[in-house]
Amino acid sequence: RIKVHLDKRLSETHEICIGYDFQDRIGLLIAKEHPANRYVIVTDSNVSGLYGKTFLEKLRELGLPAELLEFPAGEGSKTMDTVLALTSRLLERGVDRHSLLLALGGGVVGDLTGFVASIYMRSVPFIQIPTTLMAQVDSSIGGKTAVNLPQGKNLLGTFYQPKRIFTDLKFLETLSDDEYLNGVAEIVKYGVIDEPGFFELLEREVPAIRERNLEVLKKVIEQSCRIKKGVVEIDEQESGFRRILNYGHTIGHALEASSNFTLAHGKAVALGMIAASGISVQSGYLSLEERDRIENMIRDLGLPVRIPESFPQSNVLERLQMDKKKEGSELPFVLLKKIGIPFITKGVEKSHLEKVLEEMK
Ligand code: NAD
Ligand code: ZN
Repeated sequence: RIKVHLDKRLSETHEICIGYDFQDRIGLLIAKEHPANRYVIVTDSNVSGLYGKTFLEKLRELGLPAELLEFPAGEGSKTMDTVLALTSRLLERGVDRHSLLLALGGGVVGDLTGFVASIYMRSVPFIQIPTTLMAQVDSSIGGKTAVNLPQGKNLLGTFYQPKRIFTDLKFLETLSDDEYLNGVAEIVKYGVIDEPGFFELLEREVPAIRERNLEVLKKVIEQSCRIKKGVVEIDEQESGFRRILNYGHTIGHALEASSNFTLAHGKAVALGMIAASGISVQSGYLSLEERDRIENMIRDLGLPVRIPESFPQSNVLERLQMDKKKEGSELPFVLLKKIGIPFITKGVEKSHLEKVLEEMK
């Protein structure tokens, strides 16, 4: 088994530490560099059994006053009910502003814990320990926190940065193929919107990524974190530039919602990225050759490139009209001039959209 170097520091502010099988060291770093009167691991019912309880033991062995709170795994828990349930347990245990919350889990745990940390007693510090590939390359970085409402996803939330992010590649060994692919789709997104060199690296390493080769994954995760962090540092509150991270997500979200969330996020985004590339070709920006490179890579990675027949096109178009990022009648869209050169446009022609969706059937 390949060992990955520990403590790869990306920079001083909201630093990201990437390593392999280094939970002992994470414990030590937390004890040394983040003194607190209480350490509360927040996790979900799956991660609790896999990693939560052993991590709790590690913290206790270091003499830290640690405890663990868990809630049922799944997107269904990302609600105000869970926020209130967690809050009352934090109160019962005497957690205050000198305590530290540790979000151990995927994006659901991270978004929820970050949200609670940002509002509990007008904010307590928290650390992200992401355990899904999606959380490691995307949701743990950037400080967006949220819960869902019956009216839609992520409608209540805050911008609140974790003190630190500890990414252990060891967690990826227990991830299902579907969960793994969710993260892979976000990595492709970074490959397309950042520099062509990264896209080329991903093209070369498709087989290694499919095999979860640790050495390659370390490189790819590190670069993805660097890209996300770089974008967020320019535009933390998403007033403009950060929107390039929505590449593939506008149509992706519409497909996800039209499927009643039975289509996984990563698969929806994969289709959304192909659609956005197709529209970029239609509008005369992107070459057909580059569009095909994007589609080929997505296919070779094991993600879908065709919209399932069960999707009525009109439904997808209707969903696009309801997107929460809409400004007036215009829906901002991320298109491409080239691989590595994305830009944000104020809406696309309906005829282009229809044509591209039709071609993807
Ligand atoms: P998730 O947190 O639901 O995790 C997926 C599943 O994997 C869960 O069942 C979980 O228990 C399980 N799991 C977690 N780690 C595991 C491991 N190491 N081994 C085995 N199973 C494991 O989903 P996710 O895909 O990580 O995150 C999705 C959420 O992230 C969504 O709510 C989305 O809105 C949010 N998100 C937020 C941001 C942001 O910027 N804040 C960005 C992207 C997505
Ligand atoms: Zn996404």
